[in-house]
Amino acid sequence: MTSNRNSWSAANDSAGRASLADVGWMRAARDEAVAAAERGEIPVGAVVVLNDHLLARSGNASISLNDPTAHAEIVALRASAAALRNYRLPGVTLYATVEPCIMCMGAALHARVSRLVFGCDDPKGGAAGSVLDLAAHQRLNHRMTVVRGVLEAECGSLLRQFFAARRKASRSG
Ligand code: ZN
Repeated sequence: MTSNRNSWSAANDSAGRASLADVGWMRAARDEAVAAAERGEIPVGAVVVLNDHLLARSGNASISLNDPTAHAEIVALRASAAALRNYRLPGVTLYATVEPCIMCMGAALHARVSRLVFGCDDPKGGAAGSVLDLAAHQRLNHRMTVVRGVLEAECGSLLRQFFAARRKASRSG
């Protein structure tokens, strides 16, 4: 697997290393996660970028849309495909604050996303190396480069704060 944790290079790199641009785009994804939390959604954000140009950004929207598929990554991929008028998105980088789930990795594979950059691991549901590794599955014909651990601490603490607040609310409620 071409993933590499906390390994930085000055320029964009297809070998699985994060660039300074990656950190900037991940900050935008993190801002989407913060906005999602303010709407009562699980704080996950996603950004889709082509040639250093923003195509779409979104936070989770499943609760507000009553849509189990409205994860941040899916919403951003849909908007990107609509913007490009193409159901496939070769060459794009998908940024996600949290390791994508099976559904979102499936969508990224269908879209032919070239590169995935994510923040923190999801040991319970991540499909880019934690529970499954769909990015490097031998039987799937599309491979994507994966960079993990970009703004990992910030992305993870958003989730921990959100769930801690929810537990506190349910105890006092
Ligand atoms: Zn997902």
